[in-house]
Amino acid sequence: MARKLSGKVVLATHNAGKLREMRELLGPHGIDLVSAGELGLPEPDETGSTFAENAHIKARAAARAAQLPAISDDSGLCVDALDGAPGIYSARWANGSKDFTGAMTRIHEELTARGATEPEQRKAYFISALSVVWPDGHQELFEGRVDGTLVWPIRGTAGFGYDPCFLPDGYERTFGEMTSEEKHGLPKDGSQALSHRARAFQMLEKACL
Ligand code: IMP
Repeated sequence: MARKLSGKVVLATHNAGKLREMRELLGPHGIDLVSAGELGLPEPDETGSTFAENAHIKARAAARAAQLPAISDDSGLCVDALDGAPGIYSARWANGSKDFTGAMTRIHEELTARGATEPEQRKAYFISALSVVWPDGHQELFEGRVDGTLVWPIRGTAGFGYDPCFLPDGYERTFGEMTSEEKHGLPKDGSQALSHRARAFQMLEKACL
């Protein structure tokens, strides 16, 4: 049995886009989410070699510093034809999340250089590893994934990060062309959500809320 969450919880992020999405997801459960950024907590170095390790590092640091349960999402975009890059380096490819147009252009150029110009050669997926750590060190992990194809030129101005280049399988609009409800809303009928983060969240919800 996973441990349950309630009351005040820290989200171990300094990313306003992630905070907004997680607040929308956790709000209905009565969780009062405060971010590590808002609390002025330092950002630990992400020294892990997987999304899960990095998520645990961030959640552990926030739980210890705030003495509250902490949730951390480590996520990124993995491109098959680039051997999984940018992967855990997704933020770094965007110069610390400052230049996603540059990062998406780099992906497009590297794919072109490898001769990957057709949609079926441009398969990619987003991963979200959600770690929950309590101040006593107890931890839980949930991983969500969404598969799709990269488009060029990029499309849409909604969302954040790599959203404008990612066309999820079965859809005709990129994440950058979707409303936040379409991208990470939780279907009322209990069916699977679309985004990697919402999918990981559904697992967390089932286990911890
Ligand atoms: P981190 O999880 O804070 O290490 O950041 C992962 C990187 O992937 C960031 O640059 C994010 O902007 C990007 N990323 C994560 N999730 C999404 C998403 O849902 N859409 C677009 N970009 C994302």
